[in-house]
Amino acid sequence: MSLLAVGSVAFDNIETPFEKRADVLGGAATYIALAASYFVDAPKLVGVVGADFGEENLQVFKAKKIDIEGLQVDASGKTFRWSGRYHYDMNSRDTLDTQLGVFASFSPVVPHAYQQSKFVCLGNIDPALQKHVLTQINRPKLIVCDTMNFWIESKLNDLKETLKLVDVLIINDGEARLLSGDPNLVKAARLIRAMGPKTLIIKKGEHGALLFHGDTIYSAPAFPLESIYDPTGAGDSFAGGFTGALAKADAAGEAISEMTMRKAVLYGSTMASFCVEKFGTERLQELTPPEISDRYQAFCALSKIDE
Ligand code: AMP
Repeated sequence: MSLLAVGSVAFDNIETPFEKRADVLGGAATYIALAASYFVDAPKLVGVVGADFGEENLQVFKAKKIDIEGLQVDASGKTFRWSGRYHYDMNSRDTLDTQLGVFASFSPVVPHAYQQSKFVCLGNIDPALQKHVLTQINRPKLIVCDTMNFWIESKLNDLKETLKLVDVLIINDGEARLLSGDPNLVKAARLIRAMGPKTLIIKKGEHGALLFHGDTIYSAPAFPLESIYDPTGAGDSFAGGFTGALAKADAAGEAISEMTMRKAVLYGSTMASFCVEKFGTERLQELTPPEISDRYQAFCALSKIDE
C-alpha cells in the first residue's frame, strides 16, 4: 500500500488574531505525509529543502517513519517560506508573502524505490512540477491532486495539463469558482471534471466538503470544534488522510467504491479537524489511533438520524 506525497516542505510565519509564530515547520507534503502516516507504513516524500532545514525538522519525519529518500537538500538556497494572516473568523486568510527559495530551481527526482507507488498525493506545488513527478513513475492506481489560487492565477495552462492526468482533485470552494469561472458549485464541479479529474472534492471550510463521484454528490459535515488554534495545513491534512484511508482500504482488498470514497472523505475531515487544534504540525505529531477512530465515529454520528 505504497503512498507517495509530493509538495512543498516549508517554514511558515503564521499570524492568527490570538497568536503569532515564525519558522513553524509546514508545507503541503509535510502535512500530507504526517496525516497519511496514520494509515500506511512509511509514506514516501518528494520535495526539497534548503541548507537552513536542520536535523530537528528531519526528525519530525523520521519519528513517523516517513521515507525521506526523495527529500532533496539543496544547500545553495533557503527552504520555501510562506507567511499568512488569518482573519477573526479563522475561515479566511491573506497570504502576506511567498518565498520560493530552493523551489524556484527545483527539479524533482523520484527515487527508483518510489516508482511503483500505488497511491500518489500531489500536494500544493507548481503544477509543472506535479506533472514532472508523474512522468517519472509507473501509472499509479490513484492520483490525488491539490492546488490553490496562487497556481490557478499564475500557472493555469500548466495546471490544466496536470489535471488531465489526475483522478481526484481536492480544492476549496473559492478555488473551484476561480478555476471554473462559475459561481455555482454544482456547475463548477461539472466544468472542472471535464478538465480531467473523474472525482472532485470541494472543501467548504467550517461547512464541510462535497464529494462529486460518478453521478452522485455526497455532503460531508465539518466537525464543530470549540478551539481552533491554527487552520494552516488543514487542507493538506485532509488530502493526506483521504489518500491514506484509500490506500489502507486497497491494501485490505477493498475496491475503491463510492462508499470507500465517502469514508475516505470522513477520514480526511478527521485529520483536518485534529490539525487545527494546535499550531503547525504539533497535533499531527502526537495523535494516537484510538483518538482517530473515536473522532471518525463522531463524524459518522454527526449527520445520522433514525428514520
Ligand atoms: P493549507 O492550509 O492546507 O492550504 O496549506 C498550508 C501550507 O501550504 C503551508 O504550510 C504553506 O507552507 C504551504 N503553501 C502555501 N502557499 C504555497 C504555494 N504557493 N505552494 C506550495 N505550498 C504552499
